[in-house]
Amino acid sequence: MKNFQTSLLFLENKVLNIKDLSRDPIRFVRQFKNPKDQELIGWIAAHLSYGRVEGIQKAIEKATKPLGDRPSDKALGVSHDYWTREYQSAIHDWKWRFHKPSDIAHWIRGWVEIQQSGGLEQRLVPTKKSTADNQLGLLIENLKKDLPMSYGLRFNLPNPNEGSTAKRWRMMIRWFVRSGWPDLGIWSRYPPSDLIIPVDVHIGRITRYLGIHNQKGVNNKLAIRITEALRTVDPMDPLRFDYPLAHMGIDGNCPTKLNLTICALCPLYEVCDRPKGYPYKNLKDTKVTI
Ligand code: SF4
Repeated sequence: MKNFQTSLLFLENKVLNIKDLSRDPIRFVRQFKNPKDQELIGWIAAHLSYGRVEGIQKAIEKATKPLGDRPSDKALGVSHDYWTREYQSAIHDWKWRFHKPSDIAHWIRGWVEIQQSGGLEQRLVPTKKSTADNQLGLLIENLKKDLPMSYGLRFNLPNPNEGSTAKRWRMMIRWFVRSGWPDLGIWSRYPPSDLIIPVDVHIGRITRYLGIHNQKGVNNKLAIRITEALRTVDPMDPLRFDYPLAHMGIDGNCPTKLNLTICALCPLYEVCDRPKGYPYKNLKDTKVTI
């Protein structure tokens, strides 16, 4: 347990010393200083963050360009017609995998409507009667009723209560809730201790190497299990380790093909099973009690 904690802190420290956001979508959000601008750009950027990094970056850049330097003022100040005409015309030759210009136009309009009815944090903050995931599931179900159900918009609305990892939602919420680098801390009522990790393939496999689980596929149960393991190290801010762990995979510091030269320099080497040849052992052998 002590080694697990020490290794994660070592990894975090290494990442904090470098602070390279060039391959992370939060860099688009951090270009803005106003919290409402950050929230709107995060709302768009997080939901376009799937697929190859270079493609994601081009997609976010082009979809957000028509919003200018004050995107929230612009979004809240224009009429509904703007989204069906000028905005879609400005990005008519844009497409990102499952998303078309009309999807992004409706998605931004969805954010505007949420602002006009109390704001996004109010819709997602956990309460005494409703957990964070219930709140998220409720908002997702309401958006399904309010937005046209194109393929791209359905892709934006995975419900964690139906087993989805809701990875892009969880990443966006982490950006807004946590205040530690690289996150923004623009939401004050949502406790960081209630965050659940956005599990992608990198987080799934690297935490498997660390003996937190032995599951190959990803689902919401896995997200909760990994979060519980991280809570043993920091109960108040378990997701402080999300960015460092995810970027082990994203930046090629933990390649899918085992490379013992890279492993020898890895901050997680001591607690990682993979270079020692037994990554799929039973959960009863895990180092972390959850
Ligand atoms: S020790 Fe090797 S396999 Fe384990 S996390 Fe580090 S780079 Fe990946």
